Amino acid sequence: SPLVSVRRVSKQFANGTLAVRDVDLDLGAGEFISLLGPSGCGKSTLLRMIAGLANPSTGTIEWNGAASDGASGGRPDLGFVFQDPTLMPWANALSNVMLPLTLKHVPKREAAERAAEMLALVGLKGFEKSYPRELSGGMKMRVSIARALVMRPKILLMDEPFAALDEITRHRLNDDLLQLWWKERFTAVFVTHSVFESVYLSQRIVVMAARPGRVMADFAVDAPYPRD
Ligand code: ADP
Ligand code: ADP
Repeated sequence: SPLVSVRRVSKQFANGTLAVRDVDLDLGAGEFISLLGPSGCGKSTLLRMIAGLANPSTGTIEWNGAASDGASGGRPDLGFVFQDPTLMPWANALSNVMLPLTLKHVPKREAAERAAEMLALVGLKGFEKSYPRELSGGMKMRVSIARALVMRPKILLMDEPFAALDEITRHRLNDDLLQLWWKERFTAVFVTHSVFESVYLSQRIVVMAARPGRVMADFAVDAPYPRD
């Protein structure tokens, strides 16, 4: 059975904008799915509803067959990465990654060990004590990914995470994200408006269209493999 089932979900904002219309989508465990479409087609809105950061106007979202607890949120089995890494500027990389563990009262020593392990996994071994201002845009994004994965969530939701980065950094991060997914096998949902990125990264592409915020196609592509 799917990890997440989206059933006939629509979202209409208070100002009348119908951002998502009648979406049906199953997310399987371990899949790497891209949500592809032009700006304004409702990708973020759909992702935020899957995350429980917003509620559908109509329809349901089920997790492992159980109704979502909606915007009450705080799912430990979910990691979210935004385009802006939003790190705490006064805390070093290690403390930034430790945050979700600290909030769950994981003992400090264990939290530090787990955070250091995640930083190593995203390629930042040796940068534990660096502050966000000392890191490049790509490295800040790596810290943000480590923070999203430190609770070992079943699913990692990413909202155009690399869109603000230069092309070369972006390409490296795409490669490293793929390696990480290959190794860790979380379910990945990657929102992008780049056809290239969606084909390069994912096993499955879900295409949305600007009006009416609908899923227009949902198809499998060749399974990606780690590239050196
Ligand atoms: P995408 O992520 O594909 O760029 P969004 O989900 O951000 O698209 O937006 C879908 C549509 O909903 C757009 O027309 C956008 O302007 C509108 N929208 C997004 N958030 C809000 C909001 N809080 N209130 C009103 N309209 C919104
Ligand atoms: P990224 O692709 O992670 O954004 P950048 O190309 O912006 O990295 O790198 C900025 C600087 O930091 C470069 O000098 C790069 O060699 C260095 N750097 C980036 N990641 C690492 C790493 N994991 N270990 C050592 N140096 C790194």
